Amino acid sequence: MSTLDRPFITLENFGHSLQAPAYVFKPARSEEILQAFELANKMGLTVTARGAGRSYNDAALNGGGIVLDMSAMNRIVEWDSQTGRVTVEPGVTIEKLWQQVEPDGWWPPVVSGTMFTTLGGCLGANVHGKNNFKVGPIGEHVIEFTALLPSGAEVVCSPQNNADLFYAMIGGLGMLGIFTSITLQMKRIYSGLVEVDARPVHDFHEHLADLLDNAPKYDYIVGWLDTTAGGKSLGRGQIHAARYLNEGEDPDAKNTLLLKNQALPSRIFGVFPKSILHYFMSPFINNLGTWGVNTGKYLASLPRHTFRESHAAFHFLLDYIPNWELSFGRGGLIEYQSFVPKETAEAAWTKIMRLSHKLDLPPYLGVTKRHRPDNFLLTHAVDGFSLAIDFKVTKGNRLKLSQMLQEFDQIVLNAGGRFYFAKNSETTPETAMRFLGEETIARFKSLKKRCDPNGLLESDLYQRVFGSDRM
Ligand SMILES: Cc1cc2nc3c(=O)[nH]c(=O)nc-3n(C[C@H](O)[C@H](O)[C@H](O)COP(=O)(O)OP(=O)(O)OC[C@H]3O[C@@H](n4cnc5c(N)ncnc54)[C@H](O)[C@@H]3O)c2cc1C
Repeated sequence: MSTLDRPFITLENFGHSLQAPAYVFKPARSEEILQAFELANKMGLTVTARGAGRSYNDAALNGGGIVLDMSAMNRIVEWDSQTGRVTVEPGVTIEKLWQQVEPDGWWPPVVSGTMFTTLGGCLGANVHGKNNFKVGPIGEHVIEFTALLPSGAEVVCSPQNNADLFYAMIGGLGMLGIFTSITLQMKRIYSGLVEVDARPVHDFHEHLADLLDNAPKYDYIVGWLDTTAGGKSLGRGQIHAARYLNEGEDPDAKNTLLLKNQALPSRIFGVFPKSILHYFMSPFINNLGTWGVNTGKYLASLPRHTFRESHAAFHFLLDYIPNWELSFGRGGLIEYQSFVPKETAEAAWTKIMRLSHKLDLPPYLGVTKRHRPDNFLLTHAVDGFSLAIDFKVTKGNRLKLSQMLQEFDQIVLNAGGRFYFAKNSETTPETAMRFLGEETIARFKSLKKRCDPNGLLESDLYQRVFGSDRM
């Protein structure tokens, strides 16, 4: 790896709304990461790590630079089924992790809504699950990690050792160093099933009150928002609240813990391969189609019910339909996620949803969660809620959409809210300064200077939000 002996490859974000050509390297060992650093230094290029490229924005893109595809560093190095402690290389996916630990009666303490993310990417963004209000983000379950710095130094970090780097590299978007080894604590489970309560909520007030009041009674809580309902029904949807089963509650635990009973079905109705389903969804991804689907889904959600389902089915609903994002069409999709304190969320999101309806740009998917704050430097969490909404991007609406999202940013900032760097693609330096604060950005930049004095690690997102430090 001493020369740039390869053409550019055009990479995309998960939503297929952004493209960036880069020199892609696929290190299998730490030494190959060091070689890429040397080459980048020699050629005057920047470097970005990429896990599974599941970020909705430009976090794992680096136009004109080097991208390190970390997927080949994917070994589970050590698994202790007695203590639930696991050490993995950063390219191990959540899928590979849960499939390793679940048959032994353990589950990853925090998972993203898709199982195809890597642990390196999950630490880079510090992902949260539907249990964020209870157990915090994934970073709170990391016992230790090892990272390579652009200087060639290797650092081992934990909450006790190099704590400043621990709390800044997790959620640091790969801009301080590259994770090469991660040790995590898994959560003990006594069944392959969770018990889910499903109930409708009729407006924003009831929706958020349910998340707030009922979260403490459960291990997980998540809301579906009917994004096309307006008037008095604005904010209506359905809550799914789930709890682990206690020891002895599942008489068939040995069986439900088997991998074959966790797998998502590969065919719909046992006939159609799921891989073609997104083609059938495409005709509904417009204002009228989504209104019809949402109304049907809401009406179907009216009877309250309780059921048991596998961990995989509960957590990875979006993985049921492979490439579902392609149903948004050629322009792709933008996900806008805001985190707003519990006192101001209802008013802020009412404004946001009304504005999107007024401009005839309603989102087509909406998800709410309950959160609590954490100690990570670039944290997106608040004592409140998050709302993630997905917009279809077309050539015709791109500018108008972008302007509307800038207006959303002001509403969220005025409500004391924050943003998540793995999702939003419109966050400006001014917005980041307002929600992170000058002192936090200065602390991050000072750690960056220490770990990466020549500004080798930069992504499109970093340059967009924090500006280039390249020397
Ligand atoms: C369908 C879907 C559902 C989702 N649900 C959730 C959810 O519930 N909660 C949530 O928090 N997020 C969620 N996300 C977002 C996703 O979890 C994050 O974007 C995550 O970072 C993606 O992991 P990845 O491996 O694809 O990383 P990438 O997108 O490839 O990279 C993410 C960041 O991590 C950095 N990085 C990657 N590998 C390394 C490494 N080895 N060392 C240092 N830095 C590294 C990258 O440079 C980048 O900044 C969802 C995404 C999708 C597509």
